[in-house]
Amino acid sequence: MTDITQPAAILALGREKSARRGHPWVFSGALARLEGSPEPGGPIVVRSADGHRIGVAAYSPSSQISLRFWSFDPDEVIDTAFFLARLDRAIAWREAQGLDPMGQRDADSALRLLHAEADGLPGVTCDRYGRYLVIQLSSAGAEWARAMILEALRTRFPDHAVLERSDVDSRVKEGLPQRTGMLAGEAPAGPITIREGDCRFLVDILAGHKTGFYLDQAPNRARLAALSKGKRVLNVFSYTGGFGIAAGVAGAADVLHVDSSGPALALMADSAALNGLDPARARALEGNAFEILRKLRDKAESFDLIVLDPPKLAANASQVAKASRAYKDMMLWGLKLCRAGGHVAAFSCSGNVDAALFRRIAADAAADAGREVRVVDQLGSGRDHPSLLAFPEGDYLKGLLLSPM
Ligand code: SAH
Repeated sequence: MTDITQPAAILALGREKSARRGHPWVFSGALARLEGSPEPGGPIVVRSADGHRIGVAAYSPSSQISLRFWSFDPDEVIDTAFFLARLDRAIAWREAQGLDPMGQRDADSALRLLHAEADGLPGVTCDRYGRYLVIQLSSAGAEWARAMILEALRTRFPDHAVLERSDVDSRVKEGLPQRTGMLAGEAPAGPITIREGDCRFLVDILAGHKTGFYLDQAPNRARLAALSKGKRVLNVFSYTGGFGIAAGVAGAADVLHVDSSGPALALMADSAALNGLDPARARALEGNAFEILRKLRDKAESFDLIVLDPPKLAANASQVAKASRAYKDMMLWGLKLCRAGGHVAAFSCSGNVDAALFRRIAADAAADAGREVRVVDQLGSGRDHPSLLAFPEGDYLKGLLLSPM
């Protein structure tokens, strides 16, 4: 029997199929009607048109994504215990993968602790940088659950400071204001230091991009560092130096970092010094990467390893064509600047550009560059960014490790 006092979302006829396959989103067009008056972000039981209870979702009144499933158990109660159980599951998964979620092996380690949908928590991201947790709440449901999520984190990480970095564009679509600030403990006085493999990185959690650092690239930094000994490295879209510092620590002969952000490059220089790297071998060029790549080519420069890791170039489907041209341009110049037998690692973090399209773009760039190119590896994010089979949208990061012959 259905409890009519409990708000419910009734899907349009036949529109329960993707949820039945475990997809966590329901778009507004698939929602037939609401029963009761759900509060914004509040939990709501979802039913198919023929009355089957499918699960419990968070209701987002202003978003194109009307419902995000917390659970496919329609009797699930969304309370602090629920968030604690989800957090424990996320910790257990990472431990099983050989990661260090609680920082027990290394107090300065860093990783993504909660990866939204793929950890059963749509809209909820939490990264741990040493003794700091940085949370990002991007949906109305995550906002509704804010106090419970914080309580769950404080229960498992009582001696960690917690910073909120809910300053993401997606909150606008959810009708939510941007919000940042400490939720527990003291703000750090400046950039904090994390350890990743043999490297130490300075991370500006208060004002850096996203939650401060691109933790998703951790396995790729290690992969490319292993190719760097004695090599000339060009780290394009370097941000605070991640790939280039890892290459330097692994013995690269020389690294040139390119980024349009002066503050990011300044932090790169400090991180390089922290790792004892000679500043003459960790150089920075500030400016537009697309122009700098051409200029380097004009000067007949060449490199053994080139990393191309631009920001998200396609924020939505309508930007895919324009983004594809930019990806092609960057790969064209990257391939031209690469010595025969060297490596070009090209990345896209645009969810709308899938791996097949990215590979076609790379093939177009190779043809225009007049280079025959091997695919050495396909790259993605690490296991602290788990991937759900039913939710390919979550696998936003894709990379190709190429070797022009
Ligand atoms: N590879 C980095 C992350 C890169 S994020 C890491 O592993 O940490 C993308 C970077 O591109 C940002 O630092 C941003 O400042 C920079 N950027 C954006 N547009 C750019 C442009 N046109 N030219 C150069 N850098 C740009």
